[in-house]
Amino acid sequence: MVNNKYLLPKGVKSYLLPQGEEIRFFEQQARQVFHYYGYQEVVLPHIDSLSLFRRNIGEGTDIVERQIMKLEGKDNICLRPEATAQIARSYIEEGLYKSYPIFKAFYIGAMFRGEKPQRGRLREFRHVGAEFIGSDSPYADAEMIKLAEEIISLFAPSNFKLEINSLGCENDKVKLASMLKDKLKPYLSKLCPNCQRRYKSNPLRILDCKNSSCRGVVQALNIADSYLCSDCRQHFRSVLSILDEWKVKYHITHTLVRGLDYYTRTVFEFTSPLLGAQSALAAGGRYDNLISNLAGPAYPAVGFALGLERAMLLRNQPIPVFRLKAFIVCVNESLKLEALRVAGILRKAGLSCDIDFRSRSLKAQLKYSQKFHAEFVVIIGEDELKRGEVVLRHMPTSQQKNVKLEDIVTEIRGN
Ligand SMILES: [Zn+2]
Ligand SMILES: [Zn+2]
Repeated sequence: MVNNKYLLPKGVKSYLLPQGEEIRFFEQQARQVFHYYGYQEVVLPHIDSLSLFRRNIGEGTDIVERQIMKLEGKDNICLRPEATAQIARSYIEEGLYKSYPIFKAFYIGAMFRGEKPQRGRLREFRHVGAEFIGSDSPYADAEMIKLAEEIISLFAPSNFKLEINSLGCENDKVKLASMLKDKLKPYLSKLCPNCQRRYKSNPLRILDCKNSSCRGVVQALNIADSYLCSDCRQHFRSVLSILDEWKVKYHITHTLVRGLDYYTRTVFEFTSPLLGAQSALAAGGRYDNLISNLAGPAYPAVGFALGLERAMLLRNQPIPVFRLKAFIVCVNESLKLEALRVAGILRKAGLSCDIDFRSRSLKAQLKYSQKFHAEFVVIIGEDELKRGEVVLRHMPTSQQKNVKLEDIVTEIRGN
């Protein structure tokens, strides 16, 4: 047992064998889907400016109030809770809007949250997400949703639900907030202390509260979309009709607001009943004012992020096992150097292979090779080596033959 002092803290995870490969497998699949949609990968720092998130996610949001992990002794530095604000900031800071007025980027990486860990809520977790900056077209919203759906399908082809809403533009959000205040007034005493505070500062957040009494109040409110201006209403209708056209199923949920200040117009959330209380699998929306709020040009944008760990809980497809192309065994210990030379030839040719460095019998080496599901075993023996040959065994058929060293790459590749 490891000394208690050294145990992995709660809410973080190590991915050893085979989980490390599993997580990379899904990441690779996601990368491929993003590329199919024309998105290119960006890599962002894990530590960033605290005020970036405070200002743009919103003071008073759960994320900012309780969840951001600050760095001790560093006033304005924290571990990032999400990547959208980071991407928007760097896009402006590096002047990318000049060369990429349309910017389609994806990212895969760790995010951090300081609150007490619960089931399905880790302190360090991974997001797979995308941002599309520079278009206010409803096609961009619909495509982002379709893309998110396709990424989710890598893990769980069914068993998820899409909820969608439109918050409207900033003006509409103000109307929505005052409409909410009117509707909530008679129920103020039923709201949790947090929501009573939110009632004054930011009533939209009450819709996000997980407290059961607050949820009950919200569900009985019967919110309609009368706060939407005609442009925003038309935009939302177009998004929905494109989704209909693409046969993407959705439920309109007028209480869906997403807990971040920067969202405008379309917001959406994919949930799965299999995840229990923390049912959100992926979420996103449009943020038309974030870029200009960060002192950039007035570029509209839309994005989403998926929680990789949660999605992995839903996976129902087997992961391909780790497989070596070849395993090299030696008839006796003195041939290890020769085995390494052969390994060098194979690796240089892009063929994966390994050797057992322990001094063991041929039989034990062969048994060990099975662990790696090698397609070929290369047997190095003294007599063969004198003729410049090795024995090549094709494992699925158990057929073996002597092969000249210079032909080994072609032989292995040819099968
Ligand atoms: Zn509007
Ligand atoms: Zn509440």
